[in-house]
Amino acid sequence: VNGEFGRRLTGHARRWALPFDTLESEYGQPLHYEGVRAAAAGGKYAWLWAVHGETSTGVLNDLAQLKQICREYGMRLAVDGVSSLGAVPTDLSGVSWASGVSGKALGAYTGLCFVFQGDEPRVSGDAQDLLPVYMDVDAYEQSAGIPFSQSSNLLAALDAALRAFETDAPYAHTASRYRSIRSAVEEMGLRVLAPREHQAPYILTIALPKELSSRELGQRMLDQGFALQFESGYLLERNWLQIASLGHLKEKDIVRMLDVLRLFVETMGKRRQLPLTKEAGPQAVAANR
Ligand SMILES: *Cc1c(COP(=O)(O)O)cnc(C)c1O
Repeated sequence: VNGEFGRRLTGHARRWALPFDTLESEYGQPLHYEGVRAAAAGGKYAWLWAVHGETSTGVLNDLAQLKQICREYGMRLAVDGVSSLGAVPTDLSGVSWASGVSGKALGAYTGLCFVFQGDEPRVSGDAQDLLPVYMDVDAYEQSAGIPFSQSSNLLAALDAALRAFETDAPYAHTASRYRSIRSAVEEMGLRVLAPREHQAPYILTIALPKELSSRELGQRMLDQGFALQFESGYLLERNWLQIASLGHLKEKDIVRMLDVLRLFVETMGKRRQLPLTKEAGPQAVAANR
């Protein structure tokens, strides 16, 4: 766990009454790979479950290292690839189980969930009987089709969205956009949470100084037509603001978004620094807006 979505996996595990231990790193930091390795070396674990792209902090966890550790210690690897699928090239060989969705980086409508399953393990016997049938991946596979009703609209939209991925162009676009956004944000004097070498190249988390409220800044950006992320509980709690650079964004809109953000950061920053004397009172604040 090194973010909100890793934390959510522990919630899933608890609800399914799976026996598990949790290894935590600070939100915004990379996973503690040496700790993972040491735990794996203890030999009592069958599975490792982790998030690939930790959307809440903008950290891209190192799938290659996790695969390597699992290979060495004979563990199976399960990966939450919900935000990374379609955002960064992802090699799922050596991964036993992974999840993905239609709505994020793939850019189709939200609503479809993918389960990528290696050839093992199979659920069988009593365990299979206890599994809700809609969650039984084998049932989907054995039907060699669609065992339960699905929205054909969603499937058609996904089919159309996937055409963009016949080349690697979407990955290159996403990555190049993010680089200019990160540089511009840092030039404004703001702190990007994830260390550069662990940055997911599609979502940037800004840890705002306490004199800049993420709620206010996010709301002002929204009023100007730019939907940054700030409303999730874990963002509000920490005064974090996020910029996602996925999908069909136009270069000139990104430039405008950054111009507007810079303006608000400067004016809100100044407003807070004004001394609250009689002379520089509310009028001066108003003038500064
Ligand atoms: C979005 C996301 C999910 C799913 O969250 P929802 O609340 O269902 O949208 C799971 N894992 C990661 C890493 C995500 O980014």
